[in-house]
Amino acid sequence: MLNIWTKVLELLKKRLDPIQFETWFSQIHFDSDQDGKIILVANDDFTAKWIKDNYLECIKDAIWDVEKRHIAVEFRTKNSQPYPDKESRLKDELRDRLIPWMTFENFVVSLSNEVAYSACQMIVKRPGLTYNPLFIYGGVGIGKTHLLQSVAHELLNRFSGINICYMTGESYVNEVMNALKIGRLDSVRQRLRGQSDCLLIDDIQYLAGKDFAQEEFFHTFNELYSAQKQIVLTSDQLPISIPRLTDRLRSRFGAGLMVDIQPPEPELRLQILLRKAGREGIYLPEEVALYLAQEFTSSVRELEGALNRVAAHALIRKLPLTLTLAKEVMTRIKSEKRVRLTPNNIIKAVADYFEIDASEITSVRRSRDISLPRHIAMYIMKNSGHFSLQEIGKYLGGRRHTTILSGIANIEEKIKTDPICERAVKDIVRCLGIA
Ligand code: ADP
Ligand code: MG
Repeated sequence: MLNIWTKVLELLKKRLDPIQFETWFSQIHFDSDQDGKIILVANDDFTAKWIKDNYLECIKDAIWDVEKRHIAVEFRTKNSQPYPDKESRLKDELRDRLIPWMTFENFVVSLSNEVAYSACQMIVKRPGLTYNPLFIYGGVGIGKTHLLQSVAHELLNRFSGINICYMTGESYVNEVMNALKIGRLDSVRQRLRGQSDCLLIDDIQYLAGKDFAQEEFFHTFNELYSAQKQIVLTSDQLPISIPRLTDRLRSRFGAGLMVDIQPPEPELRLQILLRKAGREGIYLPEEVALYLAQEFTSSVRELEGALNRVAAHALIRKLPLTLTLAKEVMTRIKSEKRVRLTPNNIIKAVADYFEIDASEITSVRRSRDISLPRHIAMYIMKNSGHFSLQEIGKYLGGRRHTTILSGIANIEEKIKTDPICERAVKDIVRCLGIA
């Protein structure tokens, strides 16, 4: 850890005003590491507090840049008392769980996300008093988590005593179910309802089909809502399209403001790449950025993943980051995708989802009606872009290409009108790793 701290100091020295750096950072010392935390010791309480209040974010950013992982930092004073009181410790714990760069400053705004962004900005100014609940929905990898984390960061910065509860839908369900098992529901209720000023839940669609957790959440929601506590939820689709969600939760979720984030436009994709490269010190020529931005149209996460890979190749193979290298890496990414996307894999994924046998999808016999899974298999094969209608027909038990066409058309229509079908396609596509 001392090693990490030395590198962090070097970075901070470059980033901060030299006088400020000298004044404050000469007064703290690396002490030890405990439970994976860096313990820093300051000469006195005032210095510890000042550095915490003014430089903790910079320190965390630098740690992230050096280590690419979160390491908690704790301040102590010379008399060796753990420095922060309980309240600020809670805040620190939350800060440690948040991703340091998922802040408003690092969120690039454009037409596709500006409404969601502005709504979040309003909320942090007057939590609980403008849009409540705020429900943000949109596809995979387009910035929902980033915005929700920005809200958390900003609330922590603005309101000193605020108690924020930030979790994913999945951890909410787990927590509630564990508490139920060991008879500790009261303490979870107390923490979520009694003590929190603001509830932020990412990927609330995870509650789908979890009846007990939904029931619990309904009461938590109502209690916080009537006390004018801010609630922000994100989801991959509208409340009405989340299957197996009770109607009363659907109507609660939609009671405030619902905003969507659309897939990123080309200019936004470019800006996000350039900013990321800038933040991480990657030298990214514009033609490479343009090329990557045009290759990935829907998910920012995939786009960023591609940049990471290209940059890693350049670094490890000691090559300049050129268009040629980017194209070469892209070819690999595409062929990896294709390997995953064999007709058998697609058919198997569909069969697993519907809990039927793959042979039922390919069989010509009509033992029972499994046209929906079969049509979905046709639709996904077609949309993967790797198979012609004739090929799809061949893999699906020798069906004619007109049959395939009408199956695909059926799903195209159903996706618009039937949430269960929409959900099924989304989930299967995600399982196949092509979302
Ligand atoms: P989601 O939760 O919608 O699946 P994330 O919020 O995790 O997506 O975003 C995926 C990645 O893309 C993250 O690294 C995030 O920082 C980045 N990202 C998405 N939208 C933006 C944006 N508008 N500006 C900057 N980065 C973004
Ligand atoms: Mg997310």
